[in-house]
Amino acid sequence: MPLPFNSYPRLALSLFPAFGVLAALLAGWFGLAGLLFLGTSVVIMVGTLAPRCAWFGPLISALPAGSEGVCLTIDDGPDPEHTLALLDILDQHQAKAIFFLIGDRAAHHPELVREIARRGHVIGNHSQTHPAATFWALNPWRMWAEIAGCQQTLIQITSTTPQWFRPPVGHHNLFVAAPLRALDLKMLMWNCRGYDAVEKDAALALRRIEKSLRPGAIILLHDATPICEEVLCGTLNLLQRNGLRPQLQID
Ligand SMILES: [Zn+2]
Repeated sequence: MPLPFNSYPRLALSLFPAFGVLAALLAGWFGLAGLLFLGTSVVIMVGTLAPRCAWFGPLISALPAGSEGVCLTIDDGPDPEHTLALLDILDQHQAKAIFFLIGDRAAHHPELVREIARRGHVIGNHSQTHPAATFWALNPWRMWAEIAGCQQTLIQITSTTPQWFRPPVGHHNLFVAAPLRALDLKMLMWNCRGYDAVEKDAALALRRIEKSLRPGAIILLHDATPICEEVLCGTLNLLQRNGLRPQLQID
Protein backbone atom coordinates (compact mmCIF):
# COMPACT_ATOMS: atom_id res chain seq x y z
CA MET A 1 0.00 0.00 0.00
CA PRO A 2 1.75 3.21 -1.10
CA LEU A 3 1.80 6.19 1.23
CA PRO A 4 -1.18 8.48 0.51
CA PHE A 5 -0.19 11.77 -1.12
CA ASN A 6 -1.66 13.82 1.75
CA SER A 7 1.13 12.55 4.08
CA TYR A 8 3.89 14.47 2.27
CA PRO A 9 3.10 18.04 3.46
CA ARG A 10 3.35 16.83 7.08
CA LEU A 11 6.62 15.08 6.30
CA ALA A 12 8.02 18.31 4.84
CA LEU A 13 6.75 20.28 7.85
CA SER A 14 8.46 17.85 10.23
CA LEU A 15 11.83 18.56 8.60
CA PHE A 16 11.66 22.37 9.01
CA PRO A 17 12.78 22.51 12.67
CA ALA A 18 15.77 20.25 11.91
CA PHE A 19 16.84 22.54 9.05
CA GLY A 20 16.33 25.55 11.32
CA VAL A 21 18.55 24.09 14.04
CA LEU A 22 21.21 23.14 11.48
CA ALA A 23 21.15 26.61 9.89
CA ALA A 24 21.44 28.31 13.29
CA LEU A 25 24.36 26.06 14.22
CA LEU A 26 26.15 26.77 10.92
CA ALA A 27 25.61 30.51 11.44
CA GLY A 28 27.08 30.22 14.93
CA TRP A 29 23.80 31.23 16.62
CA PHE A 30 24.05 28.52 19.25
CA GLY A 31 21.49 30.10 21.58
CA LEU A 32 18.88 30.22 18.80
CA ALA A 33 19.71 26.61 17.81
CA GLY A 34 19.19 25.50 21.42
CA LEU A 35 15.91 27.42 21.72
CA LEU A 36 14.60 25.98 18.44
CA PHE A 37 15.55 22.46 19.51
CA LEU A 38 13.96 22.82 22.95
CA GLY A 39 10.81 24.49 21.59
CA THR A 40 10.33 21.82 18.93
CA SER A 41 10.90 19.05 21.48
CA VAL A 42 8.25 20.45 23.82
CA VAL A 43 5.70 20.86 21.00
CA ILE A 44 6.34 17.29 19.79
CA MET A 45 6.15 15.83 23.31
CA VAL A 46 2.91 17.57 24.28
CA GLY A 47 1.22 17.21 20.87
CA THR A 48 2.09 13.51 20.67
CA LEU A 49 1.84 12.24 24.23
CA ALA A 50 -1.02 14.23 25.80
CA PRO A 51 -4.10 12.12 25.00
CA ARG A 52 -6.48 15.07 24.58
CA CYS A 53 -4.13 17.48 22.80
CA ALA A 54 -5.38 18.12 19.24
CA TRP A 55 -2.37 20.12 17.94
CA PHE A 56 -1.54 17.49 15.30
CA GLY A 57 -5.08 16.68 14.18
CA PRO A 58 -8.72 16.53 15.27
CA LEU A 59 -9.82 14.08 17.93
CA ILE A 60 -12.86 13.46 20.12
CA SER A 61 -12.44 12.85 23.85
CA ALA A 62 -15.97 13.46 25.16
CA LEU A 63 -19.54 13.02 23.94
CA PRO A 64 -21.22 16.24 22.75
CA ALA A 65 -22.21 18.74 25.45
CA GLY A 66 -25.63 17.89 26.85
CA SER A 67 -25.26 14.12 26.33
CA GLU A 68 -26.94 12.13 29.05
CA GLY A 69 -25.27 8.80 28.34
CA VAL A 70 -21.69 7.55 28.21
CA CYS A 71 -19.66 5.60 25.66
CA LEU A 72 -17.93 2.36 26.64
CA THR A 73 -14.78 1.55 24.69
CA ILE A 74 -12.77 -1.67 25.08
CA ASP A 75 -9.22 -1.79 23.67
CA ASP A 76 -6.69 -4.48 22.74
CA GLY A 77 -8.88 -7.45 21.79
CA PRO A 78 -9.85 -9.81 20.49
CA ASP A 79 -8.63 -12.32 23.03
CA PRO A 80 -9.52 -16.03 23.11
CA GLU A 81 -9.54 -16.10 26.93
CA HIS A 82 -11.61 -13.02 27.70
CA THR A 83 -13.57 -11.54 24.78
CA LEU A 84 -16.52 -13.94 24.91
CA ALA A 85 -16.89 -13.38 28.66
CA LEU A 86 -16.91 -9.60 28.10
CA LEU A 87 -19.59 -10.02 25.43
CA ASP A 88 -21.73 -12.07 27.84
CA ILE A 89 -21.38 -9.41 30.57
CA LEU A 90 -22.41 -6.68 28.09
CA ASP A 91 -25.41 -8.80 27.01
CA GLN A 92 -26.49 -9.27 30.64
CA HIS A 93 -26.58 -5.49 31.02
CA GLN A 94 -28.03 -4.93 27.53
CA ALA A 95 -25.10 -2.62 26.88
CA LYS A 96 -23.19 -1.92 23.66
CA ALA A 97 -19.56 -0.90 23.35
CA ILE A 98 -16.94 0.06 20.81
CA PHE A 99 -14.20 -2.60 20.60
CA PHE A 100 -10.89 -1.19 19.37
CA LEU A 101 -9.22 -4.27 17.91
CA ILE A 102 -5.58 -4.97 17.07
CA GLY A 103 -5.27 -6.13 13.44
CA ASP A 104 -2.84 -9.00 14.11
CA ARG A 105 -5.02 -10.39 16.91
CA ALA A 106 -8.12 -9.99 14.75
CA ALA A 107 -6.44 -11.97 11.96
CA HIS A 108 -5.70 -14.80 14.42
CA HIS A 109 -9.25 -14.86 15.82
CA PRO A 110 -11.60 -13.75 13.04
CA GLU A 111 -14.48 -15.72 14.59
CA LEU A 112 -14.27 -13.51 17.69
CA VAL A 113 -14.31 -10.36 15.56
CA ARG A 114 -17.43 -11.55 13.77
CA GLU A 115 -19.04 -12.47 17.11
CA ILE A 116 -18.41 -8.95 18.46
CA ALA A 117 -20.13 -7.51 15.39
CA ARG A 118 -22.94 -10.09 15.49
CA ARG A 119 -23.85 -9.03 19.03
CA GLY A 120 -24.34 -5.44 17.89
CA HIS A 121 -21.11 -3.80 19.03
CA VAL A 122 -19.01 -1.42 16.96
CA ILE A 123 -15.53 -2.41 15.79
CA GLY A 124 -12.78 0.20 15.69
CA ASN A 125 -9.20 0.28 14.40
CA HIS A 126 -6.45 0.06 17.06
CA SER A 127 -3.46 -0.41 14.67
CA GLN A 128 -2.17 -3.60 13.07
CA THR A 129 0.53 -4.58 15.60
CA HIS A 130 -0.03 -2.18 18.55
CA PRO A 131 3.57 -0.96 18.85
CA ALA A 132 2.97 0.62 22.28
CA ALA A 133 6.56 1.71 22.94
CA THR A 134 7.29 3.18 19.52
CA PHE A 135 3.95 4.39 18.12
CA TRP A 136 4.71 7.98 19.18
CA ALA A 137 7.82 7.98 16.96
CA LEU A 138 6.60 6.10 13.86
CA ASN A 139 7.53 7.65 10.52
CA PRO A 140 4.82 8.30 7.89
CA TRP A 141 5.38 4.94 6.16
CA ARG A 142 5.17 2.82 9.31
CA MET A 143 2.21 4.89 10.52
CA TRP A 144 0.36 4.26 7.26
CA ALA A 145 1.15 0.53 7.44
CA GLU A 146 -0.20 0.32 11.00
CA ILE A 147 -3.44 2.20 10.37
CA ALA A 148 -4.21 1.07 6.81
CA GLY A 149 -3.10 -2.51 7.58
CA CYS A 150 -5.53 -2.82 10.50
CA GLN A 151 -8.28 -1.22 8.43
CA GLN A 152 -7.77 -3.78 5.65
CA THR A 153 -7.68 -6.68 8.13
CA LEU A 154 -10.95 -5.63 9.78
CA ILE A 155 -12.70 -4.97 6.46
CA GLN A 156 -11.68 -8.42 5.20
CA ILE A 157 -13.09 -10.11 8.30
CA THR A 158 -16.31 -8.14 8.82
CA SER A 159 -17.06 -6.73 5.34
CA THR A 160 -17.72 -3.39 7.01
CA THR A 161 -15.44 -0.34 7.20
CA PRO A 162 -14.45 0.90 10.67
CA GLN A 163 -15.11 4.60 11.28
CA TRP A 164 -13.14 5.03 14.47
CA PHE A 165 -9.44 4.86 15.25
CA ARG A 166 -7.77 4.79 18.64
CA PRO A 167 -3.98 5.08 18.73
CA PRO A 168 -2.04 2.59 20.89
CA VAL A 169 -1.54 4.06 24.39
CA GLY A 170 -3.16 7.26 23.10
CA HIS A 171 -0.03 8.61 21.39
CA HIS A 172 -0.70 10.54 18.18
CA ASN A 173 2.20 12.19 16.40
CA LEU A 174 2.29 14.50 13.37
CA PHE A 175 1.82 11.58 10.97
CA VAL A 176 -1.47 10.17 12.29
CA ALA A 177 -3.87 12.73 10.80
CA ALA A 178 -3.08 12.12 7.10
CA PRO A 179 -3.80 8.35 7.10
CA LEU A 180 -6.98 8.97 9.09
CA ARG A 181 -8.18 11.50 6.49
CA ALA A 182 -7.25 9.19 3.61
CA LEU A 183 -9.19 6.31 5.19
CA ASP A 184 -12.11 8.42 6.44
CA LEU A 185 -11.38 7.48 10.06
CA LYS A 186 -11.95 9.67 13.12
CA MET A 187 -9.78 9.54 16.23
CA LEU A 188 -11.63 8.65 19.42
CA MET A 189 -9.86 9.24 22.72
CA TRP A 190 -11.38 9.14 26.24
CA ASN A 191 -11.93 11.23 29.34
CA CYS A 192 -12.49 8.48 31.91
CA ARG A 193 -10.12 5.62 32.70
CA GLY A 194 -9.04 3.35 35.54
CA TYR A 195 -5.60 2.33 34.22
CA ASP A 196 -6.97 -1.21 34.11
CA ALA A 197 -4.34 -2.32 31.56
CA VAL A 198 -1.60 -2.00 34.18
CA GLU A 199 -3.55 -2.15 37.44
CA LYS A 200 -3.82 -5.52 39.19
CA ASP A 201 -6.49 -4.45 41.67
CA ALA A 202 -9.92 -4.17 40.00
CA ALA A 203 -11.40 -2.23 42.95
CA LEU A 204 -8.73 0.44 42.60
CA ALA A 205 -9.30 0.73 38.83
CA LEU A 206 -13.04 1.09 39.47
CA ARG A 207 -12.49 3.85 42.03
CA ARG A 208 -10.49 5.79 39.43
CA ILE A 209 -13.23 5.29 36.84
CA GLU A 210 -15.88 6.45 39.31
CA LYS A 211 -13.97 9.68 39.97
CA SER A 212 -14.26 10.90 36.38
CA LEU A 213 -17.58 9.27 35.54
CA ARG A 214 -20.17 11.79 34.38
CA PRO A 215 -22.71 12.22 31.57
CA GLY A 216 -20.82 12.49 28.27
CA ALA A 217 -17.88 10.36 29.46
CA ILE A 218 -15.97 8.20 27.03
CA ILE A 219 -14.73 5.34 29.20
CA LEU A 220 -11.52 3.49 28.34
CA LEU A 221 -11.48 -0.19 29.33
CA HIS A 222 -9.29 -3.08 28.17
CA ASP A 223 -9.78 -6.63 26.96
CA ALA A 224 -7.12 -9.32 27.57
CA THR A 225 -6.14 -8.41 31.14
CA PRO A 226 -6.55 -10.58 34.26
CA ILE A 227 -9.08 -8.10 35.71
CA CYS A 228 -10.99 -7.13 32.56
CA GLU A 229 -14.21 -9.04 33.36
CA GLU A 230 -14.33 -7.66 36.90
CA VAL A 231 -13.68 -4.11 35.71
CA LEU A 232 -16.33 -4.27 33.00
CA CYS A 233 -18.88 -5.74 35.40
CA GLY A 234 -18.06 -3.11 38.05
CA THR A 235 -18.23 -0.29 35.49
CA LEU A 236 -21.65 -1.40 34.27
CA ASN A 237 -22.88 -1.55 37.89
CA LEU A 238 -21.52 1.98 38.43
CA LEU A 239 -23.38 3.20 35.35
CA GLN A 240 -26.59 1.62 36.58
CA ARG A 241 -26.23 3.19 40.05
CA ASN A 242 -25.63 6.62 38.47
CA GLY A 243 -28.45 6.32 35.94
CA LEU A 244 -26.04 6.49 32.96
CA ARG A 245 -26.82 4.49 29.82
CA PRO A 246 -24.05 3.35 27.45
CA GLN A 247 -24.57 4.67 23.93
CA LEU A 248 -22.84 4.17 20.59
CA GLN A 249 -23.84 7.52 19.13
CA ILE A 250 -20.85 9.86 19.39
CA ASP A 251 -21.19 12.81 17.04
ZN1 LIG B 1 -4.13 -0.53 23.26
